[in-house]
Amino acid sequence: MEVADKLRILADSAKYDVSCSSSGSDRKNTKDGIGNAKLCGICHSFSSDGRCISLLKILMTNSCIYDCKYCMNRASNNIERACFTPREIADLTINFYKRNYIEGLFLSSGVIKNPDYTMECLCEAVRILRKEHKFNGYIHAKTIPGASQDLINKLGLLVDRMSINIELPSSQSLKLLAPNKEKEGILEPMKYIKKTVKEDCKFVRAGQTTQLIIGATPDTDHKILALAEGMYDKLNMKRVYYSAYVPLNNDDLLPAIEKPPLLRENRLYQADWLLRFYGFKVEDLLDEDHQNFNTLLDPKADWALRNLDQFPVEINKADYYTLLKIPGVGVLSAKKIIAARKYNKLTFESLKKMRVVLKRAKYFITCDGKYFSSSSFFNTNLISSALIHDERKQLIETSKSVQLSLFEPTMKDEVQCITGQL
Ligand code: SF4
Repeated sequence: MEVADKLRILADSAKYDVSCSSSGSDRKNTKDGIGNAKLCGICHSFSSDGRCISLLKILMTNSCIYDCKYCMNRASNNIERACFTPREIADLTINFYKRNYIEGLFLSSGVIKNPDYTMECLCEAVRILRKEHKFNGYIHAKTIPGASQDLINKLGLLVDRMSINIELPSSQSLKLLAPNKEKEGILEPMKYIKKTVKEDCKFVRAGQTTQLIIGATPDTDHKILALAEGMYDKLNMKRVYYSAYVPLNNDDLLPAIEKPPLLRENRLYQADWLLRFYGFKVEDLLDEDHQNFNTLLDPKADWALRNLDQFPVEINKADYYTLLKIPGVGVLSAKKIIAARKYNKLTFESLKKMRVVLKRAKYFITCDGKYFSSSSFFNTNLISSALIHDERKQLIETSKSVQLSLFEPTMKDEVQCITGQL
């Protein structure tokens, strides 16, 4: 098989892995334009200084001895298979790099023969790149669950970032949908990477990430987010990526859905952000009575509405972390407010001038004792309705092509449930 054919197959097979931050686009050049974009093959990642870098995103092979129910590349699927040799991966990367198409490599693989053999091949591809081609660009490689520590160590000294996809949030779900994988085979390498990163500054310099599939099992948002929080706290995970389950295979064990639950995925990313930057804990956002996020509201607004007794917050007095809890107030706005109020009492007008976005925040604050509307508006039902209305408008504007089912017949009922309106 020609290398170009392998590239077509193996770049396409890699597109379901989101743990490197990726985007796909299929745009042809126009007559007087410059450049074009391919649906797969190149993805984007962000370096620690915030720079966006393009990566060649490929699998070494889409053959796999495992049979994870949700995966396109599972052994039982009858699909076109291909396999790069380590040298082909290295040569391809270096050629693309020299032509300025990419700045790095994201390399993953199905499992061939056994986890150690697959890891040996990945190590060899990266070794050729680093030692023979003297390539110093960014490399993110997948660790194969079940591979030996020696091989994880060998690969970790060659790459910048490593990831092991945890995929499913519970042992039961793994048993059901990924029967060849074991929780320990995923968690142990994560622990080893965490420990070795601390001890050796040359090992996996950009840290580790992982990916969780959302919606393939009945696991709740609470369970998913608690697992993510544990991985941030205990394993120093740089990022947990959430990937809405894409229904690709027919299997009685998989949920009968037609479209990936993208809105749910989006809510989890928003909640993840609240954990990492806003001082929230999972237990603040979800609990036994609220196991899943309300998809109609962002998690911070949802939380605020359930804790309305903590609002309205007086903008001229609240401390930094209280300001961060106001829906619509981010890190930048909170800092601006604290800096500006040293000199003047802040009003709604001055907040607007400072470019603090009040669309959501206005419902939850007072400025020098004043509320934006009459005090009777400060009421869960009225604020919910207003927020859901705004959120719907924004979702429609920003996700024209996305399958957010905003106009499904159930939508009206859901709005009514939340707002209590009949
Ligand atoms: S190990 Fe499972 S998820 Fe990974 S390629 Fe093989 S079948 Fe797919």
